[in-house]
Amino acid sequence: MHSYSLIAPAKINLYLEIIGDRPDGYHELAMLLQSIGLTDRVDLRANGTDQIRVRCDDPEVPNDESNLAYKAAALMVGEFPESFNRYGGVDISIEKHIPMGAGLAGGSADAAAVLVGIDLLWNLGLTQSEIQDLAATIGSDIPFCVMGGTAIATRRGEFLAPLPSLDNLYVVLAKYRSIGVSTAWAYKTYRQQFHTAYAKDADDLTDRRQRVHSGPMVEAISKRNGKRIGELLHNDLEKVVLPAYPQVDSLKREMFQLDTLGVMMSGSGSTVFALVESKGQAEIIQQQLRHRIPDEDLGIWVAPLIANGIRLVHSADL
Ligand code: ATP
Repeated sequence: MHSYSLIAPAKINLYLEIIGDRPDGYHELAMLLQSIGLTDRVDLRANGTDQIRVRCDDPEVPNDESNLAYKAAALMVGEFPESFNRYGGVDISIEKHIPMGAGLAGGSADAAAVLVGIDLLWNLGLTQSEIQDLAATIGSDIPFCVMGGTAIATRRGEFLAPLPSLDNLYVVLAKYRSIGVSTAWAYKTYRQQFHTAYAKDADDLTDRRQRVHSGPMVEAISKRNGKRIGELLHNDLEKVVLPAYPQVDSLKREMFQLDTLGVMMSGSGSTVFALVESKGQAEIIQQQLRHRIPDEDLGIWVAPLIANGIRLVHSADL
């Protein structure tokens, strides 16, 4: 029997545009996604039973079927019943570092690690693209979490086009631990307030998607131009989240006063990140922010932009 330890990176949104509605009830999106070196560790081992068991060192993370890591394992059981019969159930242990309800796709990252880990545990030999196709059936962010790096994400966010890596920059992430934003609420509220600006028809939709592909942010990323990327950071969801969460709004304003390349909320929040050019600069910004907002509820992290998704760090025979 084997055990595997995987590292699951969080993501930030360098760009998030809501283009329109989809017939399946989701939103049509155009995003630029970036992996960062703020990571969970996910350990998997065959447990010799017919059960999936999830444990996490953070008591606020659910241990039951609602955990995305559990859902990922249940998906594999359903897809590969013969392997499940042969190898049995899995114990999944999550060491949590990515804050929850943060817009950093922490749950999706854990689920991505479980898909990659079970592929190894059950000797399935799936390709990354096959794992990503499975991932898309349980969450729109999970395919990106498998692949990682820098990518354009369209449709529900699951359709990916990789970009050159941006591993020369850092982010300072700030989040009030007690403030989590529901992603479903953010998108629902956006639809209520801004649906009149949605793409009018299929041509309009293709056109707006294409504009992101050939737009200035993709060019800035391709040239690894940190200053320009900082200027072009964008997130449509700020329009609904910042007015509803004044503390997040004022956090962004404080961070904006500091010497960074740019400041933006990630995903549906509540994390606000500042893009900076070096680790040294990131640590200065971290200290300055701590000084400006001496609130213990405010978590502040420094992380590099990284070029990888799920990474195997250890495997052992038991
Ligand atoms: P996204 O950016 O994808 O919207 P998020 O960072 O806002 O994600 P998550 O941390 O992924 O949010 O989790 C949101 C909710 O999902 C939490 O309230 C939690 O109850 C539930 N959840 C399920 N599985 C996990 C997991 N493995 N880790 C963290 N949260 C999980």
